Amino acid sequence: MKPYTDFEPPPALAVTPAGRRRLAELQKLHSAAGESLLVDEEAAAAGILRIEFSWPLNDGRTIGLRAVYPDTFPRLRPHVFLTCDPSEYPERHCGSEGALCLLGRDTRYWQANMSLAELLDENLAHVLDGTGAEDPQGEPIEYWWNSLGQASGSFVLVDSRWKLSGYDEGTVDVLVNASRTEIGRTIRAAILSVRAGDGSLLGERVAPLPAAVSSTAIRAFPWRRDDQLSLPTGSAEQTVGKVAYGKTYVTCDGADIRLSFTISRTELQHNEHGDAWVCGMAVREHISHSSRRGPRRKDTVPSIVPVFRDGEIDIGYRVPSVASLRGKRIAVVGLGALGSPAAVELARNGCTSLHLMDDDVVEPGNTIRWELGASSWGTKKQDALKRFIEREFPWTSVLAVPHRIGLPNCDPHIPGETDRLNELLDSVDLVVDASAAPGVTYLLGDICRERGLSLISVFASPNLHGGAVVFHHPESGCPVCMAHANETPEGKSGHIPYPNGMNDESTLVQPPGCSELTFTGASFDLKELSLETVRMAVDVLSSPDEWTVSEVRTVNLHNVKRRMPPSWRIDPLERHPDCGCRS
Ligand SMILES: [Zn+2]
Repeated sequence: MKPYTDFEPPPALAVTPAGRRRLAELQKLHSAAGESLLVDEEAAAAGILRIEFSWPLNDGRTIGLRAVYPDTFPRLRPHVFLTCDPSEYPERHCGSEGALCLLGRDTRYWQANMSLAELLDENLAHVLDGTGAEDPQGEPIEYWWNSLGQASGSFVLVDSRWKLSGYDEGTVDVLVNASRTEIGRTIRAAILSVRAGDGSLLGERVAPLPAAVSSTAIRAFPWRRDDQLSLPTGSAEQTVGKVAYGKTYVTCDGADIRLSFTISRTELQHNEHGDAWVCGMAVREHISHSSRRGPRRKDTVPSIVPVFRDGEIDIGYRVPSVASLRGKRIAVVGLGALGSPAAVELARNGCTSLHLMDDDVVEPGNTIRWELGASSWGTKKQDALKRFIEREFPWTSVLAVPHRIGLPNCDPHIPGETDRLNELLDSVDLVVDASAAPGVTYLLGDICRERGLSLISVFASPNLHGGAVVFHHPESGCPVCMAHANETPEGKSGHIPYPNGMNDESTLVQPPGCSELTFTGASFDLKELSLETVRMAVDVLSSPDEWTVSEVRTVNLHNVKRRMPPSWRIDPLERHPDCGCRS
C-alpha cells in the first residue's frame, strides 16, 4: 500500500477511459479522507483499484474502510468493507468480513455516474447506525454458513415446519448417503426426525426422499441451540470448530463421519425470525490396508455441510400459484414434442401423480423435439420420463402406461384399449391429450364426457404456423363440436378459425428409418403450446368454477412470410346443435 500522494498511476489506469474514471474516484476520496488514503500499487498495475482510507463522519467519528473496485467498474459498484470488527455494527448492513451494504443489493441501485465518495457521504452513517433504508429481506445466517460448503456437492435436508423454539438440545435421526467423488467426500443426507433431550419427538420428515439420499443407513447425531452463533468469518477450517462439537463418529463408506447440528434463531424473512440450521462435519478417511486393530485412519478433516430446506412449504414457497397441482393426478396421452415438455413441467411444479401413456421409442432423430436427450435413446418414452421425473422431482410419482391408442392388436394376451384407458384414467383429476391425432382426441372427448372429466387437448398445424390448446368441459363443447365450429363459415355464429397452416400438409417429411410422415417444426415453437397447456391445467385445477364452458385458445406463430412472436385468440366453444354430445 502506498500513500495516494506518492502514487504514480500505471499505464493500465492512466490511458483508458475506465482507468481515468478510477483516478477521478481517488481524487474525490482524497479530498475527504486526506493523508489516510492508501493505494495497492500491485493491484493497480493489473488495472484493479484496491484502497484503504479513514472516512470522517459529520458527528466526528472516523471509520476505517477498505474498498475494491471490480474490473467491471463503473458499470458495477465498488465493494466496501470495514477494517475494524464488524460485530459492533448492525448485522443487517454489515455482513461477514465487514462487507457494508451501502446500497440495496439489486444492481440497478448503482449507476455508472455515481461516485463512492458521494455514496459514503449519504449512506455510511445510516448503515453504521442501522437507520437507513433497507432491502425488505431477512439475513438468515445459515446462508452464510452454507456458503462455506457450497461446492462440495453435499447437503442435509430439513423441513421449515419443524418448531424447535423452547428446546436447547437433543438428537436427530439422519439418513446418510456417503460417497467419494472427484471433489472429495460427499454427504447427501436427510433428517428424518428431531428429538428433544428427553427423547420426545419434535418434528418428523414428511417430504419424499430424493433418489440421491436413497440409503438405509440411519444414524443419530446431536443438535444443540446457540442463539449467539455469529456469521462465519475466515475459512471453513478456522470457523468450523464453532459448530463441529460432537464426539460420536459413525462408519460409512470407508470413513468415520461425525455430524453435529447447531440451531440458531435468525431472521429468515424481513422481521420474521425462525431457526437456522448449521451442520458441521468431521471426516476421518480409512486407509485401505487395515491392521488387526481395525483400519488405519487419516487425520480428521472438518467442513460445513450445507443445510437445505425441502419441506412442503419450502418447495412451494417460490411459486404459490401452483399449489393447486399438489395432491392432483393428471393423465397425459401422447408423449411426443407436445406431451413430454408438458409432463415434465407439471412434475416440476409439484403435480403429485402423473399417468403417462405412449409406447414410442426415443431415438436420435426425435430427441431434437423431445424433452430429454441422448441418455434416453432406445428407451420407451413413458419409461424415460418416469425415470427422469421420479429422480429429479421426488414429490411426483409416475404411472407409465405402455400403449398407443388405435394400433391394431390381434394378440389376445395384450390388454385391450378399454383396460389400458381404465388404468390411465383411474382416479385422475384432469386429462391432457397431446396425441395430435384427431381420432384419439374424439375418443378421449367421449370418455371424459362419460366420466365427467375435464380434457385439455393440444395440437399444432403441420407446418407449425399455429396451433391450439382447447379446454373441454364435460358438459360443454366437445372435440367433435370443435370440428363443427371450424367448418362453420366465417361470419356465422359459432365459427372458430383453424390455426394457421392447419390444412397445409405440403411441408411434411419422412426421415429415413421413420414409419410415418412427420412435421418440420421446432421444439421452441411447440413449447408455446406445451406451456399454455400447463398454464391452463393450473388455472382449471385452481378455479374450476371459472371453467364451466369449453374454450379454444389458438396461437399464431407465422404470417405466411415470416415467423412472428406468438399471438393468441380465445373463443368459447359451446355445444354444436348437430353434435351427438348433446344427447
Ligand atoms: Zn360435441
